[in-house]
Amino acid sequence: MVVFFRLHGASISARRPPGKEKGPSMIKLVIFDLDNTLTDFVRMKEVSIEAAIQAMIDAGLLVPPDRIRKEILKIYEDEGIEYQKVFNKLLVKLIGEVDYKVLAAGIVGYRRAREAALVLYPHVKMTLIQLLGRGLKLAVISDAPRQEAWLRLCYLQLHHMFDMVITYEDTGEYKPSPAPFRMVLDTMGIQASEALMVGDWPERDIVGAAELGIRTVFARYGDTFGTKESGADYEIDDAYALVKIVEELNKGTER
Ligand SMILES: [Mg+2]
Repeated sequence: MVVFFRLHGASISARRPPGKEKGPSMIKLVIFDLDNTLTDFVRMKEVSIEAAIQAMIDAGLLVPPDRIRKEILKIYEDEGIEYQKVFNKLLVKLIGEVDYKVLAAGIVGYRRAREAALVLYPHVKMTLIQLLGRGLKLAVISDAPRQEAWLRLCYLQLHHMFDMVITYEDTGEYKPSPAPFRMVLDTMGIQASEALMVGDWPERDIVGAAELGIRTVFARYGDTFGTKESGADYEIDDAYALVKIVEELNKGTER
């Protein structure tokens, strides 16, 4: 089933795979994944890395950009995408030591570009405001480290919008573990059937929420894996479709 909504002349759709209908229940809480659901993390990372490479070459690093890029990606692959000492390690690898002029140039280049590239997907802000205006509560469950998740939320000016933000350190377990989902529901006093989980990663966001009976929405606009089957109750190509999904689900239910 495909539900189309119109927004300023553009059509926004939410697809509901057949056989996924669940009983009526008032949605009171929407839980969001952070990276690639609220913000285009992958693009932000790419843009920041490119800026850092140019800045380091400008500061005197005599290595071809392709080689630098390859090494950076390799370090992120080995140490995790949130690794904070990537350029230190890069310089030791490439020139045998940390040249602090080059390092500083890389960090500044990276941060300047990141600040510009760390933006919300279209209609995310409006969607959050509309959900809050309809009396819903909002939460974030992210596998990012606590400080990085909060920094991103603050850069994005979203830090006042969520009743709860659960990061990896809060439970010590990554999605799809039920722990972060259960923590949000229990702390907020919300039933699984009254919540909606939105995320871009089927194996983590969708599986984890669905296991507890939380309705799921796949943010296809943030998909970087070429996901075919999301397994979610809904799929959306634009964040604003969420408002329509909540309206549909809450139609005819009493608060
Ligand atoms: Mg994500």
